[in-house]
Amino acid sequence: MERVKRVVVKVGSNVLTREDGTLDVTRMSSIVDQIAKLRKNGLEVILVSSGAVACGRSMLRSASRLDSVEQRQLFSAIGQVRLINLYFNLFKDYGISIGQVLTMKENFGTRMHYLNQRSCMEVMLQNKVIPVVNENDTVSVTELMFTDNDELSGLVASMMDADTLVILSNIDGIYNGSPKSQKSQVIETVSPEDDLSQYISTQKSGLGRGGMITKCGIARKVAEEGIRVIIANGKRENILTDLLLGSESPVHTEFVPAAHGASSVKKWIAHSSGFSKGSVMIDDNAVRALKGKGAVSLLPVGVTDIIGEFEEGDIITIMDRNSKPIAIGRASCSSTVAAAELGRHDCKPLVHYDYLSLI
Ligand code: GLU
Repeated sequence: MERVKRVVVKVGSNVLTREDGTLDVTRMSSIVDQIAKLRKNGLEVILVSSGAVACGRSMLRSASRLDSVEQRQLFSAIGQVRLINLYFNLFKDYGISIGQVLTMKENFGTRMHYLNQRSCMEVMLQNKVIPVVNENDTVSVTELMFTDNDELSGLVASMMDADTLVILSNIDGIYNGSPKSQKSQVIETVSPEDDLSQYISTQKSGLGRGGMITKCGIARKVAEEGIRVIIANGKRENILTDLLLGSESPVHTEFVPAAHGASSVKKWIAHSSGFSKGSVMIDDNAVRALKGKGAVSLLPVGVTDIIGEFEEGDIITIMDRNSKPIAIGRASCSSTVAAAELGRHDCKPLVHYDYLSLI
């Protein structure tokens, strides 16, 4: 039997808020209507929703002088309650239950936490509950926070083996020039080999933390794992239903998915570079072997140096002799054992192919 199509929908703060910063309840309601329709048509939906901080800010305009971390903690704490409450009531009208998933980057760091989160959302979906995911901004305040919810949505799409990730922002897609210029057009499809660097502006679009650069980076990575990624305008009427159910697609940018998806472990590894505990330097032969076509593990014979300390099972970065990271993977032994086996021919792989992902 063909699996029900699974979609992750990410809604940015700019979609959910009005120009004055207050929550746009009409827009939220329209998004909920569309998600209900997707569900009716047999799609499984996971919603990654921003808007907690923006919502909290608009509720507490008079907040006394706070630093940016305190503001984020305070606004997200009160804003998330309002946000989830609204979703609860809007979905209730359709008889749909939702569940709140507040997470942080650390929860993707170890395989055990990763699998725990996956099971949690899996059991929600099996019971027809829509997971509504956001970063736990009240405690996620270190350098280990997500760049933005685009990054979080990419991780969720990858972890939950989604067929499609839709990132809704307040512009129609990626333009081949300044979005403000009349001459610019939305790039309809992006293939893995397309270079977008000349088109992407570093500007952010208002309230959210993200920008086009992160969106594109995430979209590419996720598409490489075999998941279709769409960047579209969440302020357009019926955007989700037109994109996913309609016969004529509205304007958007679509990242073409790689033909062969990555395994679940490889997907986890690919998103784990932020958790690297140490590094190993490898010689040119090993670089060539890893980058070649075959399924190659990293053997101690190709390792020339061990940098930092790591334990068996930790994520490590694999660098070429110029310290350029070329891959990440899960170490099959500690740095002490790896140092003892440096350059040897007769030892087991330091990183097995199944646990290795090229950068
Ligand atoms: N988690 C933040 C919020 O709910 C949004 C982060 C982002 O802008 O992507 O407000």
